[in-house]
Amino acid sequence: MNDKELKEKVKDLQIIVDEEMFTKLKKYAELLKIWNEKFNLTRIIEKNDINLKHFYDSLCIQKAINLYEYNNLVDFGTGAGFPGMVLAIFFKNLKVDLIEANTKKCLFLNEIKENLQLENVNIINKRAEDYSKENREKYDIATCRAVSHLSTIIELSVPMIKINGFFVPLKGEIKDEIEESKSKIKEIGIKIEKIINYKLPIENSTRNIIILKKITKTDHKYPREYNKIIKDLKNVKK
Ligand code: SAM
Repeated sequence: MNDKELKEKVKDLQIIVDEEMFTKLKKYAELLKIWNEKFNLTRIIEKNDINLKHFYDSLCIQKAINLYEYNNLVDFGTGAGFPGMVLAIFFKNLKVDLIEANTKKCLFLNEIKENLQLENVNIINKRAEDYSKENREKYDIATCRAVSHLSTIIELSVPMIKINGFFVPLKGEIKDEIEESKSKIKEIGIKIEKIINYKLPIENSTRNIIILKKITKTDHKYPREYNKIIKDLKNVKK
């Protein structure tokens, strides 16, 4: 996806854009390429691939939920900033917290924040389960991309979402994950509102965005220790 196609496609998502946002993306892509040589941040480093698989893919969350209606969002396991950093560039109404366990990735995220002068971004170098335990019922929206099985990311995210807030993970194929997460969904007090299925342009790969609404306050036993969560996952997987 070249720069012109990216601009058109982002407008199609009903996102209000200005030239400065795309200038920031250009700088972001340049820095990603430079830092990737030292830090191995991502396998996607060609300009047109970054536009499609990082920038456009991140913004597709707007297909599922209208981000203009909310005040804060947390993206955990954000890696080099996807989707959260891109959302912060385009949605100035949002205060965006990025959680990432890897310290080198956090150094890069801080460089992007400074270089792009993004005042609405906060970077937290922690494991999501530790952060979530200490920051309960804080966010309107939690999201993540390519972090773990649905059942695991539900447990990591739901404690930090406000009642009536949403968990909106960006997924590829979900095949068995919904089925395997049914008991966790029920137990933790959320419900599936909608699943948006679409193809990423150009390469036509499958995408699913799941919209989960938090109904009740989360029991303090969640999130459990990571090894406990993973151990249980082995039992639910088909
Ligand atoms: N979300 C980014 C993307 O889609 O490009 C990065 C995906 S990468 C495959 C997964 C990232 O999640 C890694 O950067 C890893 O360090 C981070 N991660 C995995 N488990 C985590 C946890 N429990 N807490 C915080 N970060 C975590």
